[in-house]
Amino acid sequence: MKAFVLDHATSVKGALHSLKQGGVAIAGGTNLVDLMKLQVVAPDRVISLRRTELGDITADGEGLNIGALVTNADCAADMRVRGNWPLLAKAILAGASPQLRNRATTGGNLCQRTRCGYFYDTTQACNKRDPGSGCAARNGFNRIHAVLGTSDSCIATYPGDMAIAMLALDAVVLVEGAAGAREIPIAAFHRTPGDDPSRDNVLEAGELITGVRLPAPTGGVQIYRKVRDRASYAFALVSLALDLTMEEGRIARCALAFGGLGTVPWRDPAVEQVLIGETPNPALFAKAAEVLLMDAQGFGKNDFKIPLVARALAATLNEATRTGRA
Ligand SMILES: Cc1cc2nc3c(=O)[nH]c(=O)nc-3n(C[C@H](O)[C@H](O)[C@H](O)COP(=O)(O)OP(=O)(O)OC[C@H]3O[C@@H](n4cnc5c(N)ncnc54)[C@H](O)[C@@H]3O)c2cc1C
Ligand code: SF4
Repeated sequence: MKAFVLDHATSVKGALHSLKQGGVAIAGGTNLVDLMKLQVVAPDRVISLRRTELGDITADGEGLNIGALVTNADCAADMRVRGNWPLLAKAILAGASPQLRNRATTGGNLCQRTRCGYFYDTTQACNKRDPGSGCAARNGFNRIHAVLGTSDSCIATYPGDMAIAMLALDAVVLVEGAAGAREIPIAAFHRTPGDDPSRDNVLEAGELITGVRLPAPTGGVQIYRKVRDRASYAFALVSLALDLTMEEGRIARCALAFGGLGTVPWRDPAVEQVLIGETPNPALFAKAAEVLLMDAQGFGKNDFKIPLVARALAATLNEATRTGRA
């Protein structure tokens, strides 16, 4: 690992001041330290956020404000989260391992880098790591890669679970930088690769996530379904976060987000529009999958994700609408 200076910020203000001098922020370090060991990133300065004031979960009107330093373990164990936003707790607990969740933070989880193997191997062409070098995954081993939102430059997935639930829950990412504070709906936070895959999200240089705000609970049936190679400690091949309300036998409200499928956490309002107002049935679920996958493109080894997500969607909708009817 390249030698670096470690700076412990004791406040957000101090961290922002430090970041102005250059360097990268570190929170739990569960992703960044691996990237540094592999020389995928090699910063001269690392600014630790762990002593800043971002470690609390606080009420925000009828919603909840989760500080950027709240660990995944603490967030999933919080009684307010478990009671009112169970989708979030379920998604977090479907990710990583207990040890990692004890260390990983809300801000770090949102900013975690892709798990594309070529990104982590500095001998390989990768536009995300080394812009202009090419994309070894396109014609390579692309089993875990995206089928939606890809570009000629990059086909990597955003790998996390927590953000998929937050997307279905209409969370808002709270950000601070030298120019002040701003709020970004999570649907607008991650970037599809386009012709610049090096930037995963819309944070500007020197900006920090300070927290995530969850809006008032919906009271819907909430399901997180994660399809993966092992039953635990594995990233999603595809995942679904669903928050659905039934009224008089029809789907009255439905929020549906997907992981492992797109280059960003994926939500398509057209899919929800197919479902809302309808009586649940297999043909309706198939139609929703058809709309979702209209522009899907496989790259060989990941072609299986297309029928897989259609089946996972049908199973999840079936489970939720039966629960919602009960
Ligand atoms: C073996 C393994 C298995 C895993 N399995 C899963 C899984 O199944 N599902 C899943 O979702 N995740 C999984 N993860 C990923 C894990 O959840 C992330 O590594 C973790 O959430 C990152 O959080 P962190 O606080 O450690 O971030 P760090 O490693 O500290 O930082 C990650 C990135 O975020 C940036 N950052 C951190 N905090 C902020 C902030 N407040 N503002 C702006 N930028 C910030 C850093 O600069 C860095 O670029 C796994 C990780 C490992 C190692
Ligand atoms: S898919 Fe993206 S991250 Fe993977 S090799 Fe291609 S450019 Fe790099």
